Amino acid sequence: MRDDLTTMLSLSVQTDTDPHAADPQWRLARWSAEFLDTQTETRYRQHAKHFMARQLVVSLCTWLALMTVFVVPDFVSMGWSARFGGMLAMRVVVGLCVLALLRAVLRDPMVATRGLGATGLLGVGLAGYLAVFLLRPEIAIWTYALTPLILIMLFVFMPNRLLYALSVAVAAAISISVMVGYSHGWQPHEQLILLLVLTLPIFTGYITARRMQILQRRQYAQIMATRRANAMLQQEAAQRAALEETLRIQASVDPLTGLNNRREYEKLFQHELARARRERTPLSLAMVDLDHFKRINDEHGHAAGDAVLKATAQLLREQLRSADIAGRLGGEEFTVLMPNTSLHACAAVMQRMLQALQTLRIPFGECSLQLTATVGVAQWHGGEENPDALMQRADAALYSGKKTGRNRVMTALATGEVLVFSPSSQAQAT
Ligand code: GH3
Ligand code: MG
Ligand code: MG
Repeated sequence: MRDDLTTMLSLSVQTDTDPHAADPQWRLARWSAEFLDTQTETRYRQHAKHFMARQLVVSLCTWLALMTVFVVPDFVSMGWSARFGGMLAMRVVVGLCVLALLRAVLRDPMVATRGLGATGLLGVGLAGYLAVFLLRPEIAIWTYALTPLILIMLFVFMPNRLLYALSVAVAAAISISVMVGYSHGWQPHEQLILLLVLTLPIFTGYITARRMQILQRRQYAQIMATRRANAMLQQEAAQRAALEETLRIQASVDPLTGLNNRREYEKLFQHELARARRERTPLSLAMVDLDHFKRINDEHGHAAGDAVLKATAQLLREQLRSADIAGRLGGEEFTVLMPNTSLHACAAVMQRMLQALQTLRIPFGECSLQLTATVGVAQWHGGEENPDALMQRADAALYSGKKTGRNRVMTALATGEVLVFSPSSQAQAT
């Protein structure tokens, strides 16, 4: 029995709040069953305030209704008398206090979590209850019989902070014992027994309310742990998505110029070729190779070469439409795929690009670098011509441009001829 009692009373609150027992944030005070950490307790009350306020409002309304109803039997048994007036005055005072607390809780639900209002009201209620002993001695037997119930209800029905409710209950037990002495003569032995008897409902009420408080706070700790785990999961998912995006970019983008790398370019090429086949639209390809690029590296260093590559890529981005696909195949070779574009239109765009490149001054340290490029353009024949064959024709056109003086756009015709492109006249045969 002693062991059971010890378990009930000292029931390790830390074990109760498992799995958070190790975290001091979730530890509960032994007697009040509130969080030891004041910030956690404040957050819990914020979280539970509406629930607590609702419970208090229900209790107060019930209390008010019961007090009002009992006016009738009072009147029936006492009629218009001083005693009835006294009882009515007591009920009015307690009723007004109940209304005042109701108003305060409805305005600010946090009032319900602080417990001071409920404690004050219970004090006033207790005084009223003691007045019944004096004003209606003929029903004292009923009043005594109700006392244990009222003591339990102090904890369970009327939501209050545990230690406040315990103080009111102990004060009530002592006052009732005094009241009995006052009205029946002082018999210390009997009064002690009465006090011991009243301890039982207080004990029951306290243990029950404490258990409820522990369960509510444990539930809160679990909700918070779940929320935290969810937030961490979301954060991890976001990090993973960002990482996947970075990997995707790394796998598809040339790090120096930001253009599509060879792998990505080939993928897009296949895609565009399939579309051109399906929709029977023209598709043109330009191969771009910078002229005498090696000299820039040799004369100004590798970093200067890199700056030129970046500037060329930027120029390509500026000159092309959003549907055009530019890539860096490696070294100083670029390629541009133009969906839905004829050979002539593609050559014209590249000619414009070459003119812009020619006039471009690329700042590097003290110097300003300048360069040209040669371009070979070919249009997909349609039918079964594969991407390699198209690239080879564009490459061959580029090669002939290199041989015939560089800084020009060469077009590979369907006939197999290669012509230098001239925007005003038509292409000239080489
Ligand atoms: P041509 O006019 O005939 O095309 O001559 P070129 O000098 O442009 O061509 P070549 O093929 O002789 O030289 C290409 C050079 O590009 C050689 C290589 O060192 C350099 N290169 C390749 N990749 C990079 C790079 O990522 N950065 C730099 N700075 N240089 C590179
Ligand atoms: Mg080259
Ligand atoms: Mg070159």
